[in-house]
Formats: sequence, C-alpha cells, structure tokens
Amino acid sequence: MSYLSKTDPSILNLITKETSRQEHGIELIASENYTSKAVMEATGSTLTNKYSEGYVGKRYYGGNEVIDEVEALAIQRCKSLFGCEHVNVQPLSGSPANAAVYFATIKPGDKVLGLQLDHGGHLSHGHPVNFSGLLYNFTQYQVNKDTGRIDMDQVREIALRERPKMIIAGFSAYSRNLDWQAFKSIADEIGAITFADIAHIAGLIAGQAIESPVPYFDIVTTTTHKTLRGPRGAIIMCKEKFAKDIDRAVFPGMQGGPHDHMTAAKAVAFHEALQPEFKVYAKDVIANAQAMAAELIARGHRIISGGTDNHLMVVDMTVKGVPGKEAEKILDEVGISTSRSTIPFDTRKPMDPSGVRLGTAAITTRGFTVADSKAVASVIDRAIEQRADKVALEGIRGEISELCKKHPLYI
Ligand SMILES: *Cc1c(COP(=O)(O)O)cnc(C)c1O
Repeated sequence: MSYLSKTDPSILNLITKETSRQEHGIELIASENYTSKAVMEATGSTLTNKYSEGYVGKRYYGGNEVIDEVEALAIQRCKSLFGCEHVNVQPLSGSPANAAVYFATIKPGDKVLGLQLDHGGHLSHGHPVNFSGLLYNFTQYQVNKDTGRIDMDQVREIALRERPKMIIAGFSAYSRNLDWQAFKSIADEIGAITFADIAHIAGLIAGQAIESPVPYFDIVTTTTHKTLRGPRGAIIMCKEKFAKDIDRAVFPGMQGGPHDHMTAAKAVAFHEALQPEFKVYAKDVIANAQAMAAELIARGHRIISGGTDNHLMVVDMTVKGVPGKEAEKILDEVGISTSRSTIPFDTRKPMDPSGVRLGTAAITTRGFTVADSKAVASVIDRAIEQRADKVALEGIRGEISELCKKHPLYI
C-alpha cells in the first residue's frame, strides 16, 4: 500500500490494525469470510471510476465496451455456477437485492410469508422496523419449540389460512437444511411466488454440499460475501419470466450506476467457486461446523435443534449462566469473534439475548481442520467456564495465538 502510506497514513494505520486483528483472532461470525487477494485486487481496480447505468449493450453512458464484457462474464460464470435461467449481478448488497425482489413482484400492502427474525429469519424478511415490514403485510412462521426445526405442516397451515402473494424460504440463523420442494408445493397450492434467500448458504450450494433451490424457486437472492467468499454485494437469480421485472426493479427502480469493480470481483469469486477445490471447501465448512457442534454438546452446551447441517449454529448460553452479550464479550477478550443472537422463544431482549451464533466459513478458508474446530470448541467452553480466572484466560489466549499461527491468512 505504497500510495496510502504517502498520502493517508492515518487510514493505512487503521487498515493495518484491522488486518492484524483478522490475522491474530479466530473469526466465528457466521456471515463473515476472507476473500482471496485476487478478489481484493478486482475491488481495488480502476473499474471503480466508471459509470455504466443500464445493462450489457444498453448503457446510458459511453465508454462501456470493457464494462460490458466484465458484466457479461460475471453473468455467464454465475449461470454455470448456480444453473439459473437469469441473473442480475448489480445489487449492491443483500438487503437492497431483497428490496428489488419485492419491488419487482408485489405491491405495498401485499401479504408475504417469511421466517420470524428471532427464529432465524432476516430483518429484510418482514421485521416491523425494516422497510419490508413497513411496506408489506408480513406474516411469519416459526421453528417448532421442541425440535428447533421449521415445521412444514405449520408453514402450510399458515399459507392456506393467510394466502400470501409470496413465500420466503431463507435464514440468517438456522442450522438445518430447508425442504425447498415442500415450500414450492405449498406455494403452488395457493399460487404464491417462491423466493429463496440463500445469503448464508450460497457457498455451500455452489460447492454442491447442500441442495439448491434454484431448480424449484421463482427467485433466489444471495449476498456474495458470506460462504460464497466473494466481495460485499449481492445477486438476484430468477426464472426467465421474472427477468424483465427484476432487471427493471434493480435499475432504474432501486439503483443508479452499478459498482463495476464489485461486479468484476463477483466474477472472480464465481470463477474461484467453479474450481474443484471449492467443493472440498464447502464440504470442509460443514464437517468443521458439525465437529464444533458435537464437541460443544459433549461439554454440556445446548445447540438449537441439536446440531447443524450447514456452516452455523446457535448456542443457548443461558445453560452456562452466561447470556449472549456477556459470552460475546468474554470470547472477544480471548480473541474469538462471535455475534450474540436471539434463540427461538427467547425470553430475553434482542440487545441482550440468550444465544451466540457461531460459523465456520472463515476459519475453514484459513485451513482449520476438524481437529482444529474441536480445539476451538474446547477453547470456547473453557473461556466461558473459567471466565473469572485471569491466568486461565491468558493461557487460552495463547492457545488461540498458536492456532492462528498454524493457519496464517494472506501469506
Ligand atoms: C446477510 C443477509 C442479508 C443481507 O445482506 P446485507 O448485505 O447485509 O444487506 C439478507 N438476507 C439474509 C438471509 C442474510 O443472512
């Protein structure tokens, strides 16, 4: 970063500090990952200088010959990766992508069915403080209290009673596979549009470690920066019959000029995800999460639904007498980043909920194995148990340093 060091040492210093934090800590925030250097080079390229409102071959600005090729390549690679009929690669992030989906397909006030936020859903799936909940008439399904799993009979019952225009399947904090075909057949009974938000699991789907909704669903959105390991951003995939409406909703409906440097970085990430190694990555992410969950359960922790099929798990920390916010803080102090999380039927407040959410996408990228993931679970458990013991915590911090040294980032 020779230019920054000359012109803006303050920002360079902060970037260096953040890089060091990422290098020396264990990243378990389920929505985070480490992109490749190649992805970062594309995000830091001259493409950031360009305006290109419109789509390939139909721009409202001159000088877009190269950008057209970049966007066409991103589209082509995304289609080979996910097998979708149509894709829009311009959405700036996950929430704006979901806004574009609603804008393209339903009217304000229309009824939509989605998973409730504190049961694992996302803000943009109808939470009352979010634009989605403010503009549309959401009803929500939940997980079953005993199993911690989404109950498709309940989803069907609500769908038949409420007759929503759209049904959303997708989550930010749910550790089980979704039954895409069951969602689709319920939607077909009432003529509802099917919308899957695979923001969290897109990389696992791309790596063919879990089933894809793309063959069944009308519309599928995903962020590109979670398990998919690309730059911050999103895409909207859909059946051909929604293509025109989706494109119009993204531009000129919601956005102006696309971020062409991010489009290029998305193309780089799709190319990386098309390589055989990415299938190994996706399998390893799940194996690591399952090993971590098993070790935590063996140490007396309660995991919602009793385990995981994907990269994440929600742990009810009240069992250990340390609710989510306090657990997040203790783990932060020893060098483990997590995010506190509500648990289904939580009796505590969202700002100070019962659980923490853990994910293995980032540690798997830096090469953590099943044995390392068990070691991380052991460290989490001991940090919580021995939270009052300064010497023990010091020792734990040392173990974390060793694990991180064994698997360096960005060599
Ligand atoms: C992360 C996430 C999003 C939002 O992505 P942003 O890029 O943060 O706006 C949308 N939906 C789901 C299910 C998510 O997990």
